[in-house]
Amino acid sequence: TVEFRKASKSYGDHRVLNAIDLQVASGEVIAVCGPSGSGKSTLIRLINQLETLTSGEILVDGKPTSQLKGRELRNLRRQVGFVFQQFNLYAHLNALENITLALTRIHGKSAAEAKKIALELLERVGLRDKANHYPAQLSGGQQQRVAIARTLAAEPHIILFDEPTSALDPEMIGEVLQVMKSLAHSGITLIVVTHEMQFAREIADRVIFIDGGEILEQATPEAFFTAPQHPRARRFLQKVL
Ligand code: ATP
Ligand code: MG
Repeated sequence: TVEFRKASKSYGDHRVLNAIDLQVASGEVIAVCGPSGSGKSTLIRLINQLETLTSGEILVDGKPTSQLKGRELRNLRRQVGFVFQQFNLYAHLNALENITLALTRIHGKSAAEAKKIALELLERVGLRDKANHYPAQLSGGQQQRVAIARTLAAEPHIILFDEPTSALDPEMIGEVLQVMKSLAHSGITLIVVTHEMQFAREIADRVIFIDGGEILEQATPEAFFTAPQHPRARRFLQKVL
């Protein structure tokens, strides 16, 4: 579970998130949408402490995250995976090594165990045959799928996605969304910042619309897409649909 309690974030005088209250249940799939600059990335980056709160509190599985340091912070990041828009794979490591690195270094697996797990994960994202390819030898969609496999290696309870398909050519978006779909409702909590409205509609349990650093609407996809309540949500949807 993730719980925001009056969580605010400012950069200098600029209040980017304003007293956010939000509860995400274990296993839930949340789509976060809103205009550019509304605070979507900041919202999810706060959850695993890529950003620090200015005031309020965020609890992950009931535990406040703001004071965590060292080992506890590493544990949080292990429980809460993050998939970036720009994949962030290690360029000098092949697909397999990108996954085994954390398994051996952080999770204490033997080289053989790590390889076995990594190959299973590559299989799961449809890239078993690309294990020896370096990021530069993979398409954007394939790189993002490796990045997802790498995230899964830590066995996170929660995965945060920040526009995972927006750096991709259109023909590669589907394969990444397919992998994400396979994770939905598998027990892992997914919080996905996305402009893929069709995807949000199909897999989200709840859509959260933010604008100006505030949650203006939370609804089922059905309600959000057919009858948005807030005028700014309506305007947003007119633009993107
Ligand atoms: P986009 O859809 O373009 O990714 P977003 O909804 O993810 O936008 P955020 O990246 O969360 O928006 O940014 C929210 C606001 O915070 C923006 O006005 C942005 O300029 C500001 N901001 C974000 N990061 C920083 C930073 N490190 N320092 C100062 N201001 C920042
Ligand atoms: Mg963003």
